[in-house]
Amino acid sequence: MFAVKNLKKTYRVKKGQSVEALKGINLTFEDRGMAFILGKSGSGKSTLLHLMGGLDVPTEGEVVIDDKSSVSFKERDWDDYRNEYIGFVFQDYNLLSDFSVRGNIGLALELQGEKVDGQKIDEILHLVELDGLGDRKIDELSGGQRQRVAIARALVKNPRIIFADEPTGALDSETGKSVLQLLKSLSSDRLVIVVSHDREFAENYGDRIVEIADGLIVSDTGASR
Ligand code: ADP
Ligand code: MG
Repeated sequence: MFAVKNLKKTYRVKKGQSVEALKGINLTFEDRGMAFILGKSGSGKSTLLHLMGGLDVPTEGEVVIDDKSSVSFKERDWDDYRNEYIGFVFQDYNLLSDFSVRGNIGLALELQGEKVDGQKIDEILHLVELDGLGDRKIDELSGGQRQRVAIARALVKNPRIIFADEPTGALDSETGKSVLQLLKSLSSDRLVIVVSHDREFAENYGDRIVEIADGLIVSDTGASR
């Protein structure tokens, strides 16, 4: 079980008023399926994703995974949380462009403390339909292929939850669809949470749509679950 309770985030800025980006978010997610966080630019989507994924800490509220609450988390516990449970996919891929596909995935394996195993890498590449492209450099790939590498990298630790922040934001519509199709297929045995401002994508691919505006939930198709 994964949930967030009364999640709030206020950003203090050097000059001017502080920003209340999240004003109290409560959500409970099932263990699998594809949920969309839908909202306009500035509504708090990325903030919510970062807090749910342990990339930033809330001002108030908690993240609950299984029966563990983040309220008692020290920095070390956040590291463990990210390592054990979470995979991230970003709009701009965040890959090492001078490295090969294999190099990027190998590095993720090393960071997990695993041996860089060519066969394992090939298996992961097959899962994201990048067979045969392991030796290409990142800057020799299309946007859609790069995003598949980013997804492959997220899959290295077989995470329980994949968070994707506008994963199709830099892609044309057709390529975007194929990336969402891939994420959808991965959601058959894990939770995938996608942030997007694209209602059509959310409606076509989401098992659940949570809409936020000004840091609050304004609708949730999965609210009664
Ligand atoms: P979205 O991803 O929906 O576009 P964000 O979560 O990025 O929205 O931002 C929500 C609000 O918080 C916006 O008003 C934004 O300007 C503000 N914000 C985001 N990050 C910071 C930051 N590091 N410092 C100050 N304000 C921020
Ligand atoms: Mg954002």
